[in-house]
Amino acid sequence: MDVTVTMIQAWLDKFTQAIETNKAYLSDLDTPIGDGDHGNNMARGMAAYQEAFAKQNPATISDTFKVLSMALISKVGGASGPLYGSAFMNLTKATKDLTVIQKDELGALVAQGLAGIQARGKAEVGDKTMVDVWAPVAAALQQGQLTTETITVAKEGTKELVAKKGRASYLGERSLGHIDPGAASSALLFETLLETIA
Ligand code: ADP
Ligand code: MG
Ligand code: MG
Repeated sequence: MDVTVTMIQAWLDKFTQAIETNKAYLSDLDTPIGDGDHGNNMARGMAAYQEAFAKQNPATISDTFKVLSMALISKVGGASGPLYGSAFMNLTKATKDLTVIQKDELGALVAQGLAGIQARGKAEVGDKTMVDVWAPVAAALQQGQLTTETITVAKEGTKELVAKKGRASYLGERSLGHIDPGAASSALLFETLLETIA
């Protein structure tokens, strides 16, 4: 089955809800290894998306991603805003002429989003960032085998990593044993995607 604009918008509504529900959890993850604001940052960004969406009523997949990207870049006062914003700006470009997304194109699209995150943030796999969820999710989707377990393993796996990028990198080895907050919000993004396309 193809992924329609309605499904993309339903996905982003589910993600907004998941962020709202997990706001305190995400900020709690950010407390020992960051500045304790990740849940609030993401909630502010998704509220800004909902507000801009209601005003602009985007009719295409590409325009929907653009509204999200601009909201995250302009309204999130943290590293995660421009990083997610770059991902969704790449998706805006990659879906320019599409009225639907074929399911087997989703992996390539997530890989484009990942490329945006890496172009901006310079993190590699293993640096304990959101990249450690986006990369295995893109790979699994490209093989047509993304499961919630893949997502959970990727997120939990950031506990075993020493942070090399972002605020958590200031802690060095002391960042060990903690889940990366951006990996956790990215897990919500892809869990809600899976629910939407199931
Ligand atoms: P801030 O650190 O500015 O307070 P947030 O708390 O909202 O911003 O986001 C922190 C998250 O951003 C981290 O958990 C990590 O996943 C992600 N992050 C930070 N720097 C980078 C980077 N250079 N590349 C990829 N992701 C990053
Ligand atoms: Mg923070
Ligand atoms: Mg901050």
